[in-house]
Amino acid sequence: MLNEKLLNLQKKEIELLRLRTKIKELENKKREVEKSIDELREKIACARRKLEEKRKELKELKDFIKYKELRIEELKKQKESAKNREEYKQILRMIAKNEDEIIKTRQKIAGVEAEIETLEEAYLKVKEQLEPRIEKLKEELADIDSEIRSLLRKEEKLKEEVEEIKSAVPSEELEKFERLKEKFNGLVFSDISTGACEGCGMTYSPAELKELKKNLEPGKTKCPYCGRFIYERGKAG
Ligand SMILES: [Zn+2]
Repeated sequence: MLNEKLLNLQKKEIELLRLRTKIKELENKKREVEKSIDELREKIACARRKLEEKRKELKELKDFIKYKELRIEELKKQKESAKNREEYKQILRMIAKNEDEIIKTRQKIAGVEAEIETLEEAYLKVKEQLEPRIEKLKEELADIDSEIRSLLRKEEKLKEEVEEIKSAVPSEELEKFERLKEKFNGLVFSDISTGACEGCGMTYSPAELKELKKNLEPGKTKCPYCGRFIYERGKAG
């Protein structure tokens, strides 16, 4: 059963699995970094929104004053043409009321302007703190991306190599190998050069190892514990 081609096939297929796991890990990491970037950007956007809302409030207050000033001008004209003393007094009261509203709004504006100043500082601080972090994460993202691309190229190459080996192995032998692969979790040929079975992890006693090595026929001798074909790395036939 064992020949260099099948052993090589096993090696390449295991390598391919590891590569795919690594790619998946990197893709997960990429998503995490993207999420972090979004969160940081959202924090900056949130500070900006708060500032913009306050600025809008300020504009509305200023517009309100303009409207009141126009209203006062209007009332002053009406006052000139008041029909009687009662109406004249009434208009004066309305003017006073509007002026009073303007004073109150100006006070409010002073408060809002102070709030805007605070929000501007907060926004700049958040930006100053978070933008370098975002830049760093973007660099990290670019690195991950290029690593993924490089691993995908490797994966393509490995897939081609696997297909090439498969096409060079007789189909009945390949079928047998595939069946064994399923049975043995992808590892059909197990290296025992460390003194333990690579497949099942069993450590052989020194006597057992000596006996196994002495009679080892690559492609025939099996691990007495898991049944995989055993071989010694570097000595595979
Ligand atoms: Zn074993």
